[in-house]
Amino acid sequence: MKTVVLVGGGHAHLSVLRQFSRHRAKLARHRVIFITPSTRQFYSGMLPSCMAGHYDVSDCQIALEPLAAAAGAELVLASVAALNVHEKRLVLDTEETISYDVVSLNIGSETDVAGLEMSGDKLFAVKPLATFFQLWLRVLAEAELKPTYRLVVIGGGVAAVELALAARHALSSITRVEVELIIPERGMLSLANASLRDRVRAYLDRAGVAMRQGPGVATSAGLGIADGQIIIADRFIAATGARAPKWVSKSGLEFDAAGFIAVDDHHRSRSHATVYAAGDICSRRDVAMQRSGVHAVYAGPVVGANLLAELGIGLPIAYAPKRHPLYILACGPRYAIAAWGAWSVEGRWVWFWKDWIDRSFIRRFS
Ligand SMILES: Cc1cc2nc3c(=O)[nH]c(=O)nc-3n(C[C@H](O)[C@H](O)[C@H](O)COP(=O)(O)OP(=O)(O)OC[C@H]3O[C@@H](n4cnc5c(N)ncnc54)[C@H](O)[C@@H]3O)c2cc1C
Repeated sequence: MKTVVLVGGGHAHLSVLRQFSRHRAKLARHRVIFITPSTRQFYSGMLPSCMAGHYDVSDCQIALEPLAAAAGAELVLASVAALNVHEKRLVLDTEETISYDVVSLNIGSETDVAGLEMSGDKLFAVKPLATFFQLWLRVLAEAELKPTYRLVVIGGGVAAVELALAARHALSSITRVEVELIIPERGMLSLANASLRDRVRAYLDRAGVAMRQGPGVATSAGLGIADGQIIIADRFIAATGARAPKWVSKSGLEFDAAGFIAVDDHHRSRSHATVYAAGDICSRRDVAMQRSGVHAVYAGPVVGANLLAELGIGLPIAYAPKRHPLYILACGPRYAIAAWGAWSVEGRWVWFWKDWIDRSFIRRFS
């Protein structure tokens, strides 16, 4: 009998739990433990359109308890606070310890807010998503009481663009609103193709979202930017890229230069064969793989197959990331921009296409 521990209910582990449910009879002599701080997983792909008012929160969440039950997994409602790879042991925030034979980490990432720590609670980090959404509801409530509202989103990736556009759309029906996007020195969507960047720049312009060059650094007066100006706002949202949680950094695993868990093409730790990782928390040396939900989703069945192989069920497989995954950016109203390789397209129908993809994803795990 072996103990397999799944940490986090991210995109990849949703697939793993589904796979385990299909092999439940064979898994019966093993122990599967699933650790998650929450019984519901917020799906990031739908968060911007939820902010824009097109979805209820319940449309964007996946219930984790039924998935765990179907997989025959013991559900532990807690967060992992430490991982000791030498003793093969996890310590939870409840101080309970759990030993494993094989552990898989799909815990996402934290928002990197270094340099942005502000006094009071002016700054919201986009992760964890559920906490962010609660704070967003507070933004809506306080905007109702103000004749004008100024919101600054800091970041240059897809999430920052989507959040700025969603916020602009939602707040403009409540009050006079100014939304500004502070982008890093390397620019906006620096890893995307030029045609997507052009479309997004034009759309931000049409939507009235101003863009300024960072880097943003918090000062006692507000947010300092490259040209020496200080930006003052009612709230700041940080969508400033990912970093690994501290407890992961202290685990003794091998990391890449940015502190993410170095994995091989089987998504197994390069230093410790009993540790697997998928999604934002891991990093591949052999291929370029952006931190995105798309890769977390596609790596899921691979990690699932490899964990089953550890238990003598089937054979291990490798994950070959798609060179050109499809990305669709929600623009606030029911309008979206899609990019695939060097190609891009936009329109209302693109939003409905995204809506179909996202709802299908939620349905698959419901
Ligand atoms: C607004 C926004 C929009 C986005 N849109 C897209 C998009 O359209 N397409 C795309 O590809 N990417 C998108 N992304 C990026 C995407 O969200 C991430 O890359 C993706 O969520 C990573 O998935 P994951 O499976 O690694 O982890 P997550 O989906 O973040 O899940 C991690 C899980 O682990 C749990 N967890 C965390 N810490 C612990 C712990 N210590 N112990 C136990 N459990 C823990 C969390 O509760 C959570 O359930 C977007 C991001 C944002 C912020």
